[in-house]
Amino acid sequence: MINFELSDYDKAKIDVIKEEGLICRKYARYYDENEDKEIPPDELPEAKDFKPTPNLASTRSEEDSGPSVMAMLYTIYRCWGDYAVKLRQPKMGGLGNAALMAAGTDEQKQRWSNGFLSMAITEPGCGSDPSRVTASAVLDEKTNEWILNGEKIFVTGGVRAGGVVMWATVDKSAGRAGIKSFIVMKGTPGFEVAHKERKLGIRGEDTATYVFSDCRIARDQLLGGNEEVQKKGSGGFRGVMKTFNMTRPAVAAFGIGISEASLDFTRDELEKAGVELDYGSGIGSRSAVAERFMKLEALHEASKLTVLRAAWLADQGQPNNMESSVCKAHAGTAVRQITQGCIDILGPLGVSRDNLVEKWMRDSRIIDIYEGTGQIQRLIIARGLFDYTRDDLN
Ligand SMILES: Cc1cc2nc3c(=O)[nH]c(=O)nc-3n(C[C@H](O)[C@H](O)[C@H](O)COP(=O)(O)OP(=O)(O)OC[C@H]3O[C@@H](n4cnc5c(N)ncnc54)[C@H](O)[C@@H]3O)c2cc1C
Repeated sequence: MINFELSDYDKAKIDVIKEEGLICRKYARYYDENEDKEIPPDELPEAKDFKPTPNLASTRSEEDSGPSVMAMLYTIYRCWGDYAVKLRQPKMGGLGNAALMAAGTDEQKQRWSNGFLSMAITEPGCGSDPSRVTASAVLDEKTNEWILNGEKIFVTGGVRAGGVVMWATVDKSAGRAGIKSFIVMKGTPGFEVAHKERKLGIRGEDTATYVFSDCRIARDQLLGGNEEVQKKGSGGFRGVMKTFNMTRPAVAAFGIGISEASLDFTRDELEKAGVELDYGSGIGSRSAVAERFMKLEALHEASKLTVLRAAWLADQGQPNNMESSVCKAHAGTAVRQITQGCIDILGPLGVSRDNLVEKWMRDSRIIDIYEGTGQIQRLIIARGLFDYTRDDLN
């Protein structure tokens, strides 16, 4: 049974999250304008303002939404406060933490799940197709160590992370089956943060380049522990790709938070300017600006529903690979149209740095790029709809 009504308990929890979102918003401009400033996670200026986060799993009743749906709503409203500030919160795990939880052994989870782990897949010659990873991992049987070599670029949270889940090939001739993930902690000799990007948006979160030069790690730092290369099929590759089924709806939810914040700001300004938003009136009695705004709201609602559907399927224990791509592809385009549409409507107020809408427009651009671009999501959707294999459609 699908129920679009939130329980009182769910609503109360979302209110707490929105309060936290507003704290993030107070610091949004500060981080946008201080991209080069490094602040240790335990000294973040906003940290002192946060109250303890409510426990998702506590005292749930049957009317409450499932944990995945609630996790998406939490994400939306934290990002409604400010996406870039939310991203840098110490309690937010990185993509590497999601990989650890999806594919790590119990012992690995126990050992490494407390710190922030970044995820390093992208290389100068490999992004959309992660099976082209060239970073290498060679096992030294004498010392029981892996020797890592290669360069990783655009690593989210790469500067502040305590460690990384990095992808490397143990056997180039095996293609995607030879790709494994390794957990490498900062301070390991041969692991260097070589560069920090300066970006259009999400400047509150750092993005780094990593270089691995004869970096030696213990044999048991192979994520999941399976050293076997199954040359038939995709072997462990499918396991590590599972991470993204869990995180694509979350990235879409980041975008939905940004678009809801932009719409709320614009709605307030329209009301101040005396523009009536009468949803019951016919098209003939509606102003052009009200009509434009309502179209943006409709786009936002549609996008939000695709995120909640992907999460709801996860809560039902049903596959959601295609729906995760649908919501990510939809949100990537919608949030751009919505933030730019709000600026169109707001005019000077929209581009002024006295307000946050211009920043949210810049922040929103990433939604359609990382964790699979819009084009790649549409490939996955097409393969799912028409039952094509990767070889049929690439
Ligand atoms: C701010 C930021 C943070 C990031 N964080 C991380 C991170 O934490 N970890 C990490 O590993 N990576 C990260 N990335 C990298 C990101 O995931 C890649 O940039 C993205 O996957 C695209 O890869 P690429 O840049 O190599 O582009 P390419 O793969 O070269 O793609 C270029 C263009 O071609 C299109 N294209 C490619 N292949 C196809 C195809 N088969 N069909 C149709 N169109 C296609 C793409 O959609 C894109 O428009 C981050 C990037 C940015 C900008």
